[in-house]
Amino acid sequence: MEKLIITAAVTGALTTRQHNPHLPHTPEEIARAAVDSWKAGAAVVHLHARDPLSGQPLQKADLFAKIIRIIRSECDIIINTSTGGGPGIPLADRIGIIPELSADPEVRPEMASLNCGSLNVGMLNRKKREFILNDVQMNPWASMLHFADTLKQHGVTPELEIYDTAMINNALVLQSLDALSEPLHFQFVLGVLGGLQATVENLVFLKNSIPGGATWSLIAAGLNIYMLGPSAIALGGHVRTGLEDGVHIEKGVLAQSSAQMVAKIARISGEMGREVATPQEAREILSL
Ligand code: ZN
Repeated sequence: MEKLIITAAVTGALTTRQHNPHLPHTPEEIARAAVDSWKAGAAVVHLHARDPLSGQPLQKADLFAKIIRIIRSECDIIINTSTGGGPGIPLADRIGIIPELSADPEVRPEMASLNCGSLNVGMLNRKKREFILNDVQMNPWASMLHFADTLKQHGVTPELEIYDTAMINNALVLQSLDALSEPLHFQFVLGVLGGLQATVENLVFLKNSIPGGATWSLIAAGLNIYMLGPSAIALGGHVRTGLEDGVHIEKGVLAQSSAQMVAKIARISGEMGREVATPQEAREILSL
């Protein structure tokens, strides 16, 4: 089996310091979290940017550039930027960072996320029966096509975010329109409110639903990653972890950092007998 690619998602847009006080906000903190995750075994870092003071997600090229420059000065981890942005960020801003960053070879991302359908995004306080976040991330057809075309034009490999089964079909529609180049790389996102539940059955179904020759990785919200990650490792997939996806290192214990979560996945994989890929090995596996 090929080596395991671990992606570190170090900040995201929905996690806050109320969830975990170790969440990085400033470009320096986000870059530090990326480099520490690389040291722990991550081959890819998935980046969002935040307002350094308020911690609000911001989709601004200059912030991304700052983060990427620091990371690049310390390691060769693969840079994967978000085009999902965060709640309330307009479509034009979400994709707008790609042409801007790609204009400078020093900060051009090698990969970027591409959400393959619209999604009810939410956060729920079950006790109060209250949706703390009550949003829809809009990804209409023409926008998805525009995002995919833009990534292709700038030579940025899309990571196809799949929150529900129909989104695989959506990706294949984009491929039929020549907006995606093979091999495809899917990211299955299980266990988020509004998406597929985090079960092994759903993971196997998704894995069996993508074209042969495609690679895939798993995100499972919260503690689910420690239950489903080993299934992804055993099935030949790859794994993403970090404070964007969950804030605990085990039940009831907050993670100290994304790097600690990466180290846990690397340790599990090692004990299962599957080695962890370096960024260079990951570039070969993903045909970057
Ligand atoms: Zn993200």
